[in-house]
Amino acid sequence: MTERVFNFNPGPAMLPVEILEEAQKELLNYKGTGMSVMEISHRSKQFEEIIVGAEALLKELMGIPENYRVLFIGMGATGQFDMIPMNYQVGGKAGNYVITGSFANKAYKEGAKIGEAHVAATTKEINFARVANPDEIKMSDNPAYLHITSNNTIFGTQWKVFPETGDVPLIADMSSDILSKKIDVSKFALIYAGAQKNLGPAGAAVVIIREDMLEKSNQDLPTMLKYDIYAKNNSLYNTPASFTIYMIKLMLEWVKAQGGLEVMEQRNEHKAGLVYDAIDKSSGFYKGHAETSSRSLMNITFRLPNEELDKEFIAEAAKIGLSGLKGHREVGGIRASIYNAMPVAGCEKLVAFMNDFKNKKA
Ligand code: PMP
Repeated sequence: MTERVFNFNPGPAMLPVEILEEAQKELLNYKGTGMSVMEISHRSKQFEEIIVGAEALLKELMGIPENYRVLFIGMGATGQFDMIPMNYQVGGKAGNYVITGSFANKAYKEGAKIGEAHVAATTKEINFARVANPDEIKMSDNPAYLHITSNNTIFGTQWKVFPETGDVPLIADMSSDILSKKIDVSKFALIYAGAQKNLGPAGAAVVIIREDMLEKSNQDLPTMLKYDIYAKNNSLYNTPASFTIYMIKLMLEWVKAQGGLEVMEQRNEHKAGLVYDAIDKSSGFYKGHAETSSRSLMNITFRLPNEELDKEFIAEAAKIGLSGLKGHREVGGIRASIYNAMPVAGCEKLVAFMNDFKNKKA
């Protein structure tokens, strides 16, 4: 390949070319320091501007209320599978989990290792073809929190309406749909996301946490597992993933310049609509995995009439610059991950290819 491709990988995922160019421009000499962001001190004025700026931009874009903090924590989203139960499964309370996919199940398994964990609902019996309905959620007697996965990256399903949990803290893993649409952050006690899809490159998890959750967090934990340590130190207790955080700030500036989350949401609906339409109008040649009511705008999963055709589809697509379309082994088939950075043109090219391929093979 001599040119950039349309990258449909689920994460690390496609980044807007504009931010890659910006990073390239600033790589050797960041704002007159004579150093790259990778080389400047995380205690420097320049880096402080980056990390404070990233928190402020995320708050502005997502409409995060005043009584929340944004933290940058290592160990990816998977690290949060441990930090959440360690901090909140205390005093005989059980972590409650809605299991709508593999990552949700991994979160539950960590909860069960650390303390008491309860399955409040699961859609495993239908191979996670949809998320749970609110009336299927049955919480335990003394819930510490309800944990959901807002978008199931592997199965291609997404919550459209979030469950109402009253006083029980609602916690969401939004790794694969943060920043893709407007949401009401005030419904959540804690939101977290691995950075490597809609936020930037890998290396950090972003945690949006309500102040009362900082106060409630378990104080008997090792330092690096305590949320309030990150909050009190502006995520600078130790050396953070400084280059990742810099890229996150560029990504947030890009989202703002595009018109913010309203524009992202409209564009994401349009993009996903193009691909789902191609599936629905294929006379059954392409079969979607997700039930219509749970279809994800970020990860579109479908299969062809047989595995041979799946393989051929993926290989032929790659030849024309449509890369990363192989589905996860738990679902098989095809997965097109179309995060914010995927342009409409990428989805149009995929749809044109799907139609051509079907006409040749059906
Ligand atoms: N949750 C979801 C929904 C994910 O998609 C992923 C990664 N694909 C993870 C958690 C795990 O993230 P990480 O690799 O950053 O630990």
